[in-house]
Amino acid sequence: MDPVEQVVFDVAEHKAVVIGGGIGGLATACGLVGAGWDVTVYERAPAPREVGAGLSVAPNAVRALDWLGLAEPLRAAAQPQGIGVKSRAGRWMVRLREADLVGRYGAPMYAMHRGDLHRMLLDAVGADRVCTGHSAVAVDTAEDGAVVHFETGSGPREVRADLVVAADGVHSRVRAGLFPAHTGATYAGYVCWRGIAPAGVVVPDSDPMWTDTWGRGGRFGAAPLADGKVFWYASAGGPEGSMTEVTLADIAARFGAWHAPIADLLAASDPAALLRNDIYYVGDPLPTFTRGRVALLGDAAHAVTPDIGQGACLAVEDAVVLAQCVSAHDDVADALRAYDAARRPRTQRLAAVSGRSARVQQVAHPVAAALRDLAVRLTPTKVYLEAGAEALGWRPEPAV
Ligand SMILES: Cc1cc2nc3c(=O)[nH]c(=O)nc-3n(C[C@H](O)[C@H](O)[C@H](O)COP(=O)(O)OP(=O)(O)OC[C@H]3O[C@@H](n4cnc5c(N)ncnc54)[C@H](O)[C@@H]3O)c2cc1C
Repeated sequence: MDPVEQVVFDVAEHKAVVIGGGIGGLATACGLVGAGWDVTVYERAPAPREVGAGLSVAPNAVRALDWLGLAEPLRAAAQPQGIGVKSRAGRWMVRLREADLVGRYGAPMYAMHRGDLHRMLLDAVGADRVCTGHSAVAVDTAEDGAVVHFETGSGPREVRADLVVAADGVHSRVRAGLFPAHTGATYAGYVCWRGIAPAGVVVPDSDPMWTDTWGRGGRFGAAPLADGKVFWYASAGGPEGSMTEVTLADIAARFGAWHAPIADLLAASDPAALLRNDIYYVGDPLPTFTRGRVALLGDAAHAVTPDIGQGACLAVEDAVVLAQCVSAHDDVADALRAYDAARRPRTQRLAAVSGRSARVQQVAHPVAAALRDLAVRLTPTKVYLEAGAEALGWRPEPAV
């Protein structure tokens, strides 16, 4: 009798599953592929989504994207600029020019279409590594791996991996499953609308600035994009789920009398493309970002409010650090311990700062708003540059 042929299954080691194909998930896939892992991204949407309007890519994220090998496409698609705050009348209260940012942090602030950043990451990862139409409903963790349970259009599916990264956003289902006692996302007390005005509405400035304008109980911001269009956002305080019927005309009625070119930007924008979001952050800090072989990443772990313009930036930082950790440690458990130790203190501090910033920037009481504006005006530029160093000065040093 012939000896029984031994069948050896080629079990792929270093197999990672990333849940969520947003900025954090794709950046993670990019980093893990670079570290030699076999990665698949599972996204619940039926096709890769390029939702959103504009986005700030701050100096810390510039360095993270550079580390991921995206220096060239970033600079081709994004508009470098400074950042500043104006009063409703248009008076500068703070102005950090591009040269100030480069001088202090080594890079400017960039503004870009979120869709361009998403596409850039998707191109780097490869669309064949992204599996759409898969909604993760649960994750079982074990010593040596984890199993993700998905709902798909054609029924349930289970996928096993050595490492699972949950980048499924601020309302993360994976987080809720792994941390049932966690209170979930915290409502920041305001609603944000976003849009993009076509090129030609504003004469391009030789000194481009991401400009935030502070009022009482509301704010308006605008940033030039590389293609001449202008990304803008407006916010108003109110209960969660309120102001769902607000139209572009309502926003123009509320903000149109503020300084130029706000009225022109709103008048030129497409009412059908208006985006509305209740703003949330993870205000209840998690005890850890990992459970067994599962790591939470990006908004799922530590969503911040847009007041500090760092949500996507921190997600990209996470991706870099996770890739560094899995490269430095043979054992996944050790790598995840190092990832948690490197990321949790920084991101949770910034999440708390963002919640406080939201309250200050959205303050409605006239006396409190006047005192805020006075304090902002009297603070010297170098104090702002130092205060920003914690967030913007980050660089991808080996953190393990
Ligand atoms: C109004 C506003 C303005 C902002 N401005 C800025 C800014 O200027 N700069 C900045 O850095 N950040 C900004 N942010 C924050 C930034 O958008 C987020 O921090 C960033 O998108 C987080 O990326 P993420 O991948 O963690 O989550 P997301 O981008 O939310 O991606 C999560 C992905 O997971 C998918 N998903 C969800 N559940 C499941 C599931 N169960 N199974 C499979 N897939 C799932 C979703 O469809 C989505 O594609 C802003 C946010 C808002 C709301």
